[in-house]
Amino acid sequence: MHDKTIAIHAGYDKDSQATMAVPIYQTTAYEFRDAEHAANLFALKELGNIYTRLMNPTTDVFEKRFAALEGGAAAIATSSGMAAIFNTIANVAEAGDNIICASKLYGGTLTLTSHTIKRFGIEARYFDVHEPKQLEDLIDENTKLILFESITNPSIDVPDFEGIVEIANKHGILTAVDNTVATPILCKPFALGCDISVHSTSKYTTGQGLAIGGIVVESNTILEKIKGNPRYAHFNEPDASYHGLVYTDIPLPIFSLRMRLALLRDLGATPSPFNSWLFIQGLEHLPLRMKQHSQSALEIAEFLESHPKVLKVNYPGLKNDVNFPYAEKYLSGGYSGLLSFEVESFEKAVEIADKTELFTMVVNIGDSKSIITHPASTTHQQLSSDELIAAGVPSGLIRLSVGLEDSQDLIEDLKAALEG
Ligand code: PLP
Repeated sequence: MHDKTIAIHAGYDKDSQATMAVPIYQTTAYEFRDAEHAANLFALKELGNIYTRLMNPTTDVFEKRFAALEGGAAAIATSSGMAAIFNTIANVAEAGDNIICASKLYGGTLTLTSHTIKRFGIEARYFDVHEPKQLEDLIDENTKLILFESITNPSIDVPDFEGIVEIANKHGILTAVDNTVATPILCKPFALGCDISVHSTSKYTTGQGLAIGGIVVESNTILEKIKGNPRYAHFNEPDASYHGLVYTDIPLPIFSLRMRLALLRDLGATPSPFNSWLFIQGLEHLPLRMKQHSQSALEIAEFLESHPKVLKVNYPGLKNDVNFPYAEKYLSGGYSGLLSFEVESFEKAVEIADKTELFTMVVNIGDSKSIITHPASTTHQQLSSDELIAAGVPSGLIRLSVGLEDSQDLIEDLKAALEG
């Protein structure tokens, strides 16, 4: 089936009331038929609902639909994108382990990996996504994950998937891709050989800036990489916290199963059923929206590229962009709605951000409403000018998240701000 059909139908079988729209199951708990039923559910002898921190029928439709769109085996929805990333790391690594991350990542993921997980005893090492050979010097027997973004936010790079996956597979290490900016519509990480896909569903999935959420999807082949692999002993040995369960003995998607049974149970970063319902609404038109976001962003990138006051435009759909060959290889159907451009100075960038009227100043992306951000005065304010350059964020850089307004109106707005 094609994405547009999956986005509307997958995962929902109509409930007992035959409702066309997926119902919101706004409940904390579920009645057991009797004590034996309850015991069977806890012992995994029967599968079914226990408590909404672990599962919920509305969230279940969202998880199944998202997994189907991504071509994965199963998914776990979380309360935010950051919760999805933390749960992914926590599902593979423990104190004494390390993970290897792209050096250019969303700011929250950078602080999570460089500061917070360090306090849990997990070390993060960094590599350039266009220089996968760097991984060889960073990998050791305690490396548990390679984490990168399919389109990086805010530097807008597309990685060398093939090079990264080849080295990861050689060493038996799982790869996780943050596919938030590309979405399952423009990038299919599993078809590119990756094992785990994570998303902030707060962005393009809701599509209108309506709710915070995240999701972790596992591939159909992850079991082959985990079973018998000494790097992932905790999947292969009895889990003392779940009466000696050995995950690799169970004929279910085990990455998600462990995340549900151990991490949702103990960390509790679960989405509300209402937010899951909002994400289901967003998914229905995600394929249509991503096409429009991409088309408008390309038109705007081309306009900016030809403007004399613009020094540089970063957009993987531009033929002169260093990421264009990677984007041609690994994305399909568009290059998403995120782009950035550089003007002569910090002051000029602030002036442009202040002058645009249709672009709203907000630190978010993936909204139907266009957004303008000046990273040097907001998200990256604490960095020195040298650090800004190292982070790929020069002081005159402006980031745009192109929304669904008419692209000509957006171009007029930017033109007036640049020339005003
Ligand atoms: N990943 C990427 C690429 C993001 O852009 C963001 C947020 O902007 C996140 C993860 C974190 O998501 P959330 O804000 O839903 O926690």
